[in-house]
Amino acid sequence: MDLNHDAFKRIVESLHDGLYIIDDAGKISYWNKAAERITGFPASAVIGTLCTDAIFPDVDADGNDLNTAVCPIGDTLPDSHPREVEVYIHHHDGSRVPVCVRISVLTDAWEKALGYIGLFADISDRKNSALRVRELEKMALLDKLTQLANRYYIEREIQSRFEEKKRFNIPFGILFMDIDHFKRVNDTYGHDVGDNVLRHVADVLVRNVRPFDLFGRWGGEEFVGIIRNIRQEDLEHLGNRLRKLVANTHFPHGMEKLKVTVSMGATLVDDDDTMESIFKRADSLLYRSKAAGRNRLTVA
Ligand code: GH3
Ligand code: MG
Ligand code: MG
Repeated sequence: MDLNHDAFKRIVESLHDGLYIIDDAGKISYWNKAAERITGFPASAVIGTLCTDAIFPDVDADGNDLNTAVCPIGDTLPDSHPREVEVYIHHHDGSRVPVCVRISVLTDAWEKALGYIGLFADISDRKNSALRVRELEKMALLDKLTQLANRYYIEREIQSRFEEKKRFNIPFGILFMDIDHFKRVNDTYGHDVGDNVLRHVADVLVRNVRPFDLFGRWGGEEFVGIIRNIRQEDLEHLGNRLRKLVANTHFPHGMEKLKVTVSMGATLVDDDDTMESIFKRADSLLYRSKAAGRNRLTVA
């Protein structure tokens, strides 16, 4: 695989998440900068080693050796289904770092397995994410009201996911959602309460997805989720889970408990999509959910 393509390499090397590739012989063949940062092991120490030699062995919360989570050889993925686990890895300095790892089979254009690709995110440090929020704010990538990614950030992220998809064939999907009858909330309770409801909905979304997935505010009462490394049925499942979570959440307002629902459109991105075609499709799927009675999801 050509990993030296300049534009591509820049993207992979600027990723916040660790990314590694295991070839069909079980050897680690790629190790990006974030992987170096999170584990403390430089690429030069890792590339070419067998992943079963586990230079960074992983253990569960009780300290049991797992040794398979980051290295799936001989163990997993009989159905090419991406797998996700939370484990602790041993950092080079001896400390344990909790990470979330998502592994999937890497295939060629004919669906022949070439190896595995793993993505992992450091989930240890809340301060870290507060720091990240401040960084992003400074870069004008966050929506002020909800602290979610703003539209500009969403578009940038989709461009990166596109590159990743074309290079590695990592599928990704979009959840496009709009709060139902939101005007009524504003008209009944006032704009400030409406703002609070928007914050609450944003909270429900980000609290219930994985670190690899990005949620942003597209505008008004519309949100977009970029869901990485996922199949259509899982995208539908995740979307419906979030939809039900929103519907079943109360937002306190004095003695009252406000409730809202969302309608969604869900779609996987194709290689020949453009930013316009993705959102056109997502929007018409969303419209079908609205027309069918709201508080539902349409996938295609
Ligand atoms: P539907 O189910 O068809 O989506 O109905 P709706 O009432 O949600 O749709 P509509 O697009 O007519 O209304 C959206 C409302 O969202 C109107 C606008 O005042 C409100 N809105 C947009 N942005 C904000 C915001 O930042 N804060 C508040 N409080 N309201 C907002
Ligand atoms: Mg709207
Ligand atoms: Mg609406």
